[in-house]
Amino acid sequence: MKTVTTYLDTRGLGHGNHTFTDVVVTGIAPGGGLFVPESLPHLTLPEILAFSAMPYWRRAAAVFTRCGVDLPSDRIDLLMRQAYGAQWSDERIAVIEEVVAGMHVLELWHGPTSAFKDMALQCMPQFFSEAISRKQEREELSDDILILVATSGDTGKAALDGFADRPHTRIVVFYPVNGVSDIQRLQMVTQQGDNVAVFGVRGNFDDCQSAVKEAFADEEFRFWLHTHAGVRLSSANSINWGRLMPQIVYYVSAYADMVASGGVVAGEPMDVCVPTGNFGNILGAYYAREMGVPIGRLICASNENNVLADFIATGVYDISDRDFVTTPSPSMDILISSNLERLLYHLAGPEAVRGWMGELAQNKRFQIDRETFKTMREFMVGDYVSNDESLATVKRVFDETGYLMDPHTAVAWEVAERTHDHNPMLVVSTAHWAKFGADVLRALYAVPYAAPLPAELDELSGVDVLAKVQEIAPTAALVPRALAELDSAKVRFASTVDSGRDGIVAVVEDWLS
Ligand SMILES: *Cc1c(COP(=O)(O)O)cnc(C)c1O
Repeated sequence: MKTVTTYLDTRGLGHGNHTFTDVVVTGIAPGGGLFVPESLPHLTLPEILAFSAMPYWRRAAAVFTRCGVDLPSDRIDLLMRQAYGAQWSDERIAVIEEVVAGMHVLELWHGPTSAFKDMALQCMPQFFSEAISRKQEREELSDDILILVATSGDTGKAALDGFADRPHTRIVVFYPVNGVSDIQRLQMVTQQGDNVAVFGVRGNFDDCQSAVKEAFADEEFRFWLHTHAGVRLSSANSINWGRLMPQIVYYVSAYADMVASGGVVAGEPMDVCVPTGNFGNILGAYYAREMGVPIGRLICASNENNVLADFIATGVYDISDRDFVTTPSPSMDILISSNLERLLYHLAGPEAVRGWMGELAQNKRFQIDRETFKTMREFMVGDYVSNDESLATVKRVFDETGYLMDPHTAVAWEVAERTHDHNPMLVVSTAHWAKFGADVLRALYAVPYAAPLPAELDELSGVDVLAKVQEIAPTAALVPRALAELDSAKVRFASTVDSGRDGIVAVVEDWLS
């Protein structure tokens, strides 16, 4: 009989005994903390290296099984075959390219929505619907689940694709009408599936997110959902442990592939550099390191919203006097980096975390103690890249190597170059360039971030922009078919709503009726 891992929470307020499927369905821990595993498995070097001969789904199943997921192994195998199957454009799933000697790019965007969010969101909904059907069988739960998502771009589409037609789940996504790119909007409003809906919110991302939060907190709405539609609310955001666990897999997998290709000597360390927003992706690397993967330094790359780079440099997390900046890497535009709380828990324990999170809520600032700071600095490095620097990096790397990267990846590449020493470097690439085609075009024409494009380029629609980039950058990865065909895809969701709780509640009730 295999052992089942139980989960604790970062603020020490829960009463334990949650299993993996519990924490996936529950999302956030009671008391506002985040779920963390009570223990991690240790993977031996031969065990890690054996991954290179396995298909990706089997690598994922091996990690999930070793991490004590409370499902039978054959069931985990089946779910992972579905998560990492034919919907990926490359059967290797997490693909490594050595772009210049010693600098390797880990491409995490071969999934159906062309962004790294697919790595987790093709996987987590499988566990979600499995967990719900088991709970319903045991009569611990009668309702199905309604996922509400407020998105500034990548998460909405990846969540729609992951949950589409998944049993026992429905999903409604809200995006700011004026806050997502052409491509991102088209990707969402053309989504297939009987259990999905998408609405534009007249306002910016903050309006959108606050309205969804208000709906979540609304008892009357929850009661209506339960009695009239047989659903209860849940969320799929990146603090859900079900999104983190799949992100451990690709670091184990990458190390095995790096050894197999001669990029690193077995047992020797590689460094990883991750373009970071909510700290989820880089936390996957932290856990892989804790589980025995030879990772040297974890390098955290930020854009102009550089609260994390400052924190790693000083031990002070301070948003009291910090404005939100817009950047060409919008998926990293964040002030409160939620998953950092999990790292702090592992370094300093629940009492310390409770104190720091209290200070953050009250004073918009906290400072970690010297001991914790010292421990963190033994393996974490941070730096940031300005808007114009990130676009210049896209162009420079393309001119020098023929490899075209998106602006998020460029942030990590630039920081990786600055920090690269004797260890092989793994630069994590989080989006296909075509998802951010307009800014990539700007980069290739050396137009600064805030300046207008030349008139003849400015007129191009989303999909024409991609064709233009492909024309001037013939060595770039091809535009994924799903993106190239967006202009001719049928728009299923054209409605917009006013921001605020009332608008959102009304359209959800109407959709479910
Ligand atoms: C979400 C996202 C990130 C940030 O990842 P975190 O796990 O939030 O740190 C970076 N790049 C892209 C393209 C993303 O979609």
